[in-house]
Amino acid sequence: MARIGDLLAEKRTLSFEFFPPKTPNATMQLGRAVGELEALEPDFVSITYGAGGSDRHRTGEVVSWMRADTGLEPMAHLTCLGHTRTEVAGLLVEYRRRNVQNILALGGDPPADDTPARSDYTYALDLLEDVSASGSFCVGVAAHPEVHPRSPSREIDRRHLADKLSIADFAITQFFFDVEHYVRLVDEMDALGIDKPIVPGIMPVTNVKHVARMAEMSGAEVPGWLIDRLDRGSDPEQIRRIGIEIASELCRSLLAAGAPGLHLYTLNQAATAREIVVNLDLASV
Ligand code: FAD
Repeated sequence: MARIGDLLAEKRTLSFEFFPPKTPNATMQLGRAVGELEALEPDFVSITYGAGGSDRHRTGEVVSWMRADTGLEPMAHLTCLGHTRTEVAGLLVEYRRRNVQNILALGGDPPADDTPARSDYTYALDLLEDVSASGSFCVGVAAHPEVHPRSPSREIDRRHLADKLSIADFAITQFFFDVEHYVRLVDEMDALGIDKPIVPGIMPVTNVKHVARMAEMSGAEVPGWLIDRLDRGSDPEQIRRIGIEIASELCRSLLAAGAPGLHLYTLNQAATAREIVVNLDLASV
């Protein structure tokens, strides 16, 4: 068992993000992806949380399974959306019982087709304070290199992030495609006196339509150069290969810029993440 804050103090980390499956087929796919990616010995993996959705218990199930049946260090995502303080207190007791050491405290995005229940929390900071006060967990938060879409200004966005990072142990970023966004974020935190590790999140693009939809939700820009390069691929496999190349280049630039680790969004598919890790010899970062 390991606390991510301690790992980041020792070394550059490699981590993968998964989401909880909803169907038997998706469960098998997750099992295969986890099996393949475990061989790369990531420092930790994270499991998303369906804010406001009826399937929220699945995160705990996946975390428990990973704890019991794999050698992976799982981090549970937790959102404030749709939660009472009592529910969160209960969840934290449950996570402690399952020996979960790491929690990512988030605002949460509601699924489009679901109305979340009443919430005692407004912002991730409120949830973070409760998780942190419980005294048992290493806690991470989300950072948005290109500014969160609901932030009225860059300055206010950075101030809210600085407030979170004055309590949290580390941050993981939303995905982005130009290394400058990350470097500027780290500089801005530095100027606010915050030097906690900010781990960049990398989303390999293997499908233009899909990423455009996700970027719209997250506020990330899909730059013209990215579309131009992907457009050179004449079939899905060629486009995937170009996407891997682009993500590998971004990872190299991030490591050169001093990133404390790399967090790869896998979408529960092993092949793309594995190829990036192999490309960069990241198993030994
Ligand atoms: P917050 O920190 O609460 O920020 C949300 C907005 O409120 C920002 O605009 C911020 O500037 C503003 N704000 C913060 N504090 C204040 C204040 N005191 N007064 C006024 N405004 C304020 N979503 C999920 O549903 N499930 C997941 O598992 C999940 N995993 C994620 C993992 C990562 C690494 C990242 C980067 C995002 C993830 N998300 C997930 C998405 C995330 O929940 C959304 O981006 C959400 O809209 C914002 O989350 P946050 O934690 O940054 O929220």
